[in-house]
Amino acid sequence: MNTEVIKEKTEAYALHTYNRFPVAFTEGKGVYLYDAEGNKYLDFAAGIAVMGLGHAHPVFTAAMQDQVGKLIHTSNLYYHDTIAEAAEKLIKASGMNKVFFTNSGTEAIEGAIKAARKYAWMKDGSTDHEIIAMRRSFHGRSLGALSVTGNDHYQEPFKPLIGGIRFADFNDIESVKAVLNEKTIAVLLEPVQGEGGVFPAEEAFLKELREICDEKDILLVFDEIQCGMGRCGEMFAWQKYGVKPDILTSAKALGCGFPVGAFLLNEKAAEKTLVPGDHGTTYGGNPLACRAVSTVFDIFEKEDVIGHVQKLTPYLEKTLDKLVEEVPCFAARRGMGFLQGIVVEGEAVGNVIQNALKEGLLVISAEGNVLRLAPPLVAGATEIDAMAVGWA
Ligand SMILES: *Cc1c(COP(=O)(O)O)cnc(C)c1O
Repeated sequence: MNTEVIKEKTEAYALHTYNRFPVAFTEGKGVYLYDAEGNKYLDFAAGIAVMGLGHAHPVFTAAMQDQVGKLIHTSNLYYHDTIAEAAEKLIKASGMNKVFFTNSGTEAIEGAIKAARKYAWMKDGSTDHEIIAMRRSFHGRSLGALSVTGNDHYQEPFKPLIGGIRFADFNDIESVKAVLNEKTIAVLLEPVQGEGGVFPAEEAFLKELREICDEKDILLVFDEIQCGMGRCGEMFAWQKYGVKPDILTSAKALGCGFPVGAFLLNEKAAEKTLVPGDHGTTYGGNPLACRAVSTVFDIFEKEDVIGHVQKLTPYLEKTLDKLVEEVPCFAARRGMGFLQGIVVEGEAVGNVIQNALKEGLLVISAEGNVLRLAPPLVAGATEIDAMAVGWA
C-alpha cells in the first residue's frame, strides 16, 4: 500500500479522533522511521515518549518473538513465570513495594485513584473523599483519568465526571494549601508535566508536598507515565528529586512499544488497599506484556541506558539552547533529561512540526505552543546533531 491508499482507508474506516500528519510509516530501525515511500525520518517523538530503546531493538525483538511462540496469555487466575520476573525487576528499579500491571497509562491512573480511595475508606469508612490534582496536568482519557486532568477543553463535553476532585496550580504550594481540607486523601501530579507544556516540578514544591502528605496521612501520587523509565535521567523522576511517592504510575516506555502500564504502591499504601475482588483486568500483566517489561529492564541494565541519558543530556540541552538563540520563533527551553520543550512564539507550533516533518524530523507539541522533544533514550550525539540541522 502506498501512502495515499493507507490514508484513504484509514480515514474511511477509523474513527477520526486524530488529525494525522500526512505520512504513513511502515518500518523503524533505531532512532529512524521509514515511510511507505521509503523516506527516512529521524524520530525525536519516539511514539510519544514510548520507544525508549528505539525501533526494532534486536534483543527486544528476539525476546518478543520467543515469547509469542511460547505463551501469550493465561489470565490472572494463574501464576506465570514472566509476571514474577517483571514484577521483581520493576519493584527493585522503582523502590516501591507492590505492583499491579495494566494495559495502558490511563488504566494505571484509574488503579491509582481506586487504591487511594480504598486506603482512605479503610481508614475512616467515609465516601466523600477528595483528591487534589494539578491544572495543566494530563493523566489520560477514561472518565476517572479525565477527571483528574486539569484541562477544561478535554473535560467539558464529557461531564459529569467523577466527583471529589480539586485543582491546584503546579509549583504553587499555597494553591495546594488553599484546596486542602479534612476530606483530602491524595495529591496527584506529574513530577515533570508532559502534555501540559514540559514543566519540571521545583524540588521545593515536591518536598513541601511530601511534608504536608506525611503530616496529614495523605497519599502522594506521582504520575511517571511520561517522565519515568529513564527519560529524566534516573529510572524514575522521584529518584532524581529525592522525593518518594506513596503511589507511582508507569506506562509509555515501560514496555518500549508493547502496550503495558502499572501502578505501584509503597509499603504503607499497600497495607490498606485493594484486595481480591476490588480490582482486575483480563489482559493486564499477561505473559507477553511482562516479557516486554522484563526485557526492557534487562536492556536498560546491560546497555546502561540511564548512564547514557545522563551523559548526553548536557549535550542535548546545549544544542537546543543554541537553537533557541538562532531560530527566530524559538523563545525558551525547559525540560529534564530527554524530555525537552521549546516555547514557540510568533508561529504556530503545528507549522513548525509540519516543516520539520518535511525535513525528515519527527517532533511533537505540548500545550501552550510548545515544541516537545522526546527522542529514544538511545539517541546519541550524531542524532542530536542531525536533529539540530535545518531549523533556521
Ligand atoms: C500518556 C500519559 C497518560 C495516559 O497514558 P495512555 O497510555 O495514553 O493511556 C497518563 N499520564 C501521563 C503523564 C501521560 O503522559
